[in-house]
Amino acid sequence: MKNVVLLGSTGSIGTSTIKVVNDLPDRLRLVGLAAGNNVDLLLEQALRHRPAAISIADPGKAASLRDALGTAAEVFSGAEGLVRLATMPGADVVLIAIVGTAGLRPALAAIRAGHDIAVASKEILVMAGEIVMSEARKYGVRVLAVDSEHSAIFQCLDGKPSCSVRNLWLTASGGPFRSTPTEEMAKVTVQQALKHPSWVMGRKITIDSATLFNKGLEMIEARWLFDIEMERVGVVVHPQSVVHSVVEFIDGSMLAQLSMPDMCLPIQYALTYPERVASDRVQTNLPKLGSLTFEEPDPERFPALALARQAGEAGGTLPAVLNAANEIAVEAFVRGRIGFTRISEIVRDVMEHHQVTSHPTLEQILEADAWARREAAR
Ligand code: NDP
Repeated sequence: MKNVVLLGSTGSIGTSTIKVVNDLPDRLRLVGLAAGNNVDLLLEQALRHRPAAISIADPGKAASLRDALGTAAEVFSGAEGLVRLATMPGADVVLIAIVGTAGLRPALAAIRAGHDIAVASKEILVMAGEIVMSEARKYGVRVLAVDSEHSAIFQCLDGKPSCSVRNLWLTASGGPFRSTPTEEMAKVTVQQALKHPSWVMGRKITIDSATLFNKGLEMIEARWLFDIEMERVGVVVHPQSVVHSVVEFIDGSMLAQLSMPDMCLPIQYALTYPERVASDRVQTNLPKLGSLTFEEPDPERFPALALARQAGEAGGTLPAVLNAANEIAVEAFVRGRIGFTRISEIVRDVMEHHQVTSHPTLEQILEADAWARREAAR
């Protein structure tokens, strides 16, 4: 039985994780749950799963949860609440699925408490990959990938070191604008951008999948998770989203992981690792799929990829700046304040004005993040 702390339990990854826990009641137990605003769903989850502790972002909402739960669970709140949950004694793995940067401190706290972490929130490795991975080595804990692409690479690598790899190929569906002509890109609407062809996900990551910033963030994430230089991390567009990523080894052999798109699969793998556990949830019928296709991403229509490569190669504080500027620009797009193509223009502008600090401390990363948010908003 593994004791799981789930940060972001009310979101898209969070609710998929709860499905996986429901599928495997003899193997997984939820001991901590944290959410942002959705008090009703958090309460429902707490009543059903009886975790020892829960946390809600807004301290003002903690009282109603305490009233409803009595002594059944400790109720924490705010940033401190996330750290309390991440460091709970007896936890085996902390799955972090909070959108944005709020997952970074709890991730480090979990590592320092000796807990394995399962990372969905890409911001953690994008902003502070160097620190997170070196702390994980120091404390002897695992950093497990939840993202389907990184889970695929992790499964294909099967412990092989980065020197046996020629390239890692992250697959991208191409998003809703894969074949939209360049001249129409500036006019696409929020509703169109929110219609992902193959995945149902949270709002921010869905917009990131339309700009391909999501893939850019994943390139940086892969660089840290698998200890490999950016130039050996590539992207290939694969509209069917069945091949979740590919490892090209130095002998020319390529290994890929295939399955119908369903986040329950990589979540289950991360939570049950190193075992593989039977599940009927995901069924993949190759003859029915017929054909799988691959194409090069278009750098002109999707500048996000080159910007992410630049940030990943420069390292230091630049990936945090890219991530923060993108968050602000996506929010402005969703609110109708800017057009779609302005998102990458704003990110590029903010990156150009940033003085990179190499090997930054956590404080320097958070300062760069705050600076980039102000700059992007301006
Ligand atoms: P959602 O927007 O669906 O969910 C975000 C979750 O974070 C919600 O539970 C939300 O709570 C919670 N949350 C937000 N702020 C706080 C906070 N300050 N304290 C505690 N909880 C908070 O996002 P997704 O599930 O789609 O994505 C989560 C992360 O996983 C992102 O980083 C994303 O990039 C990554 N990811 C997602 C994938 C997907 O398929 N969705 C695939 C791979 C990675 P509430 O709803 O209660 O406000």
